Amino acid sequence: MAEAGGQKLMPQFDVVVIGGGLAGMYQLYKLRGLGLAVQGFEAGGDVGGTWYWNRYPGCRLDSESYTYSYSFIDELLEEWNWSEHFATQPEILQYLKLAADKMDIRKNYRFNSRCAKAEYIEDDQIWQVTLEEGDVISCRFLISAVGPLSAPTYPKIDGISDFQGESYHTYFWPHEDDGPAGRKIDFAGKRVAVIGTGATGIQVIQEVAKQAQELETRKNRVISGWRDDVEAARRTKGIVRTDFQDTWR
Ligand SMILES: Cc1cc2nc3c(=O)[nH]c(=O)nc-3n(C[C@H](O)[C@H](O)[C@H](O)COP(=O)(O)OP(=O)(O)OC[C@H]3O[C@@H](n4cnc5c(N)ncnc54)[C@H](O)[C@@H]3O)c2cc1C
Repeated sequence: MAEAGGQKLMPQFDVVVIGGGLAGMYQLYKLRGLGLAVQGFEAGGDVGGTWYWNRYPGCRLDSESYTYSYSFIDELLEEWNWSEHFATQPEILQYLKLAADKMDIRKNYRFNSRCAKAEYIEDDQIWQVTLEEGDVISCRFLISAVGPLSAPTYPKIDGISDFQGESYHTYFWPHEDDGPAGRKIDFAGKRVAVIGTGATGIQVIQEVAKQAQELETRKNRVISGWRDDVEAARRTKGIVRTDFQDTWR
């Protein structure tokens, strides 16, 4: 691949970061801060990763909100008040959008852009990253921040594609036209089956059950233990603020 005459190809960017979730946002910001030319690619329409995609009813943290915060922007801790001890998805996404504003990272991201292939060109010591739309981008370093849970799967059930009723996947929950929440689906009077009783299943079951006429789960066993405790959120903030940097050591 090296040019005729032995000249190596120069990469367009020092670094490409794939993914605009918590990890990718942080990577991009830190690497840009080192003076590197960084380009980010994100398949979704904005930052947030997990919290951009998963907008199902009941989606929230099961970690304490103040432990799920960026520790390197003091300004964010000062300005931001989590309203609940275990924040909901819209609130987390709003937090991450504000973090993106503070870091001013959107200008370095290309959104709605999925990386389809990455190839290391040994002769030139560069990565060539091919986007689904066909563009090819070159860089010296390639950082994958695609997340551990960003490849949703569908249940393998015979005839699933012929199902005539409404169906939703928690990861691809429809978005509200504007705003950070998911679209409100009216389950009133409907018979609903939820497949999966892991952390996500438990969250969605609790909300849908409030409306549905009948709700069936694949396993009839629910384990849960969160409390929406605004006071607890305030207390935690007090502790975190008292010695912010020590908290993160
Ligand atoms: C419902 C749910 C609840 C959770 N609750 C908690 C919790 O309470 N506490 C906790 O610690 N963790 C929780 N997690 C785990 C959560 O995923 C991580 O905390 C964190 O958000 C992961 O961030 P990330 O940046 O690594 O990945 P992600 O947030 O998954 O971001 C990865 C991004 O990469 C993008 N991407 C993937 N492939 C490509 C590609 N080829 N090209 C371009 N872009 C691509 C995706 O679109 C996605 O936006 C939860 C996860 C889920 C799904």
